[in-house]
Amino acid sequence: MAVRPIIQLGNPVLRQPSRPVEQSQLEEVRELARDMFETLMDFRQQYGYGRGIAAPQVGVNLRVVVMALDGKPLIMINPRILRHNGKKELFWDSCFSCPNLWFQVERYNQVTVEYRDMDWQLRVTEAQDGLAELMQHELDHLDGRQAIDLVKDTSSFCTTDEYFSRHWQDKER
Ligand SMILES: [Zn+2]
Repeated sequence: MAVRPIIQLGNPVLRQPSRPVEQSQLEEVRELARDMFETLMDFRQQYGYGRGIAAPQVGVNLRVVVMALDGKPLIMINPRILRHNGKKELFWDSCFSCPNLWFQVERYNQVTVEYRDMDWQLRVTEAQDGLAELMQHELDHLDGRQAIDLVKDTSSFCTTDEYFSRHWQDKER
């Protein structure tokens, strides 16, 4: 297991669409997902927040997302949004690839996501509010979309220090 360097905003790798994982790549993905989780936990330790990372952020254009939910890894392979409730809300967002920047984006407040787990089982999960926002953020990375693309009001841009002092809500951590 290893902490991998996080690709920073501006690197073209983050703009490339990622390839679907084949079942034959599971072993490779197992190692990748372990490293992604370790990288995520290392980021949390350094910055005090962070819940998800997508494979392109460690330089691998495969459709893999790893989230830390209550400290435990949730690994999603080939995730896709099956449906959403059509209702968008403003959420505060940030990204490991531009860690000193916070901003408001509009996303659906409820999504249903289908993915494969590490046993290649097809799973479906429903997420709301902050978790729904997180899943949309991470899935966007797999299509080369960045959260800053969704900023409508540029006056919401905020550094991490300012965000912590003004808008921090523990539940979003
Ligand atoms: Zn991100």
